[in-house]
Amino acid sequence: MRPNVLEASAPAAIKAPARTILTIAGLEKTFDDFTALHGIDLHVQDGEFLTIVGPSGSGKTTLIRLLVGMETPTSGSIWLRDQRIDELPPNKRPTCMVFQSLALFPHRTVGENIEFPLKIRGTPAAERKARALELLTLLRLPPDYYSKRIQQCSGGERQRVALARALAFDPEILFFDEPLSALDYRLRKTLEKELKDLHARTGKTFIYITHSLEEAMVMSDRIAIMRAGRFEQIATPDEIYARPVSRFVAGFMGEVNLFDVTADGTDMAGSGLVIRPGLAAETGLKGPGTLVVRPEAVRFLDFGEAADFQIQGVLHAEYALGSRLQYEIDLADDRKGTVEVLREQRITGKPGTDVRLGWDLSSCHLIKGA
Ligand code: ATP
Repeated sequence: MRPNVLEASAPAAIKAPARTILTIAGLEKTFDDFTALHGIDLHVQDGEFLTIVGPSGSGKTTLIRLLVGMETPTSGSIWLRDQRIDELPPNKRPTCMVFQSLALFPHRTVGENIEFPLKIRGTPAAERKARALELLTLLRLPPDYYSKRIQQCSGGERQRVALARALAFDPEILFFDEPLSALDYRLRKTLEKELKDLHARTGKTFIYITHSLEEAMVMSDRIAIMRAGRFEQIATPDEIYARPVSRFVAGFMGEVNLFDVTADGTDMAGSGLVIRPGLAAETGLKGPGTLVVRPEAVRFLDFGEAADFQIQGVLHAEYALGSRLQYEIDLADDRKGTVEVLREQRITGKPGTDVRLGWDLSSCHLIKGA
């Protein structure tokens, strides 16, 4: 039985530090016999930019829908500071707004769109207009856009109008459900930076969901990686990049080199990885585990040059990635290795050339566990 009366304050067990604005405790959601969220816990700090990242079907949208009140949890609770909100309907959660650029009224003006939520609340016209103009300035749109129709705005301008409308209520938390996914690459990159900047200027709490860890890295204070209805890792972008807790997290951000390391600190038979003699004993490096090496940490070794880790391979192909070059290397056992260097560091070898790759202990990370 779900309680009818909302509890007056969060139970001691889930009470969080004073700066916590949102607490999720044991949140579970099932659809018939399918469990989309498996009793997840999370504390979001006031003013934080938290991004939830995960592959399709991992439960991101379900979580946001529960947070904004579009779905009810099967069990668990959601707290806004000390108030339990999971049984409140969406319109009774005034601090929560969903940012949806597609839901703008195309035939109406920018001003009418921004003022729409205020009009519903009965805010007087003069006050509405003043707030709309203030928000245009905040979103770096000229004041004369107030009378421009949405149809006359570019994709990027529409996103800014949608943001202004979401901010019109002065919500404490803004939720974003993949707002940039339909935009072209350059506009997306610009808006990622604008969102981060807007977050800093407003001091609001932003909760953002996306498929793209790269996008999350640009904007977020913390990233929560979701996998099959659970959080796999919740950490700062730097921590996730440098110390992923699992192969799943390590592999989520583009190319990565993974090597199995055995219990005595040497490579698995067949991978061809050579570890500097004595390194395992000196540093306590031992498995079982997986060694994670980012492509930019790997270098081509010159004749006689040594590194903590070395591996032989054959150059397979070179790919240009803007300012960087990526090399694909054939390793033993049909495995592939990836190396990324700056354009100025282009190597002279052609596909088919034997190469020796190396990297140091300080630029790789061992995920413990078989
Ligand atoms: P995407 O990135 O593709 O939007 P997501 O991470 O947001 O995916 P959800 O939409 O939360 O994932 O879905 C999580 C799982 O729950 C999926 O397997 C989905 O099929 C299932 N699911 C979501 N809503 C329902 C529903 N109303 N009825 C049944 N199953 C559902």
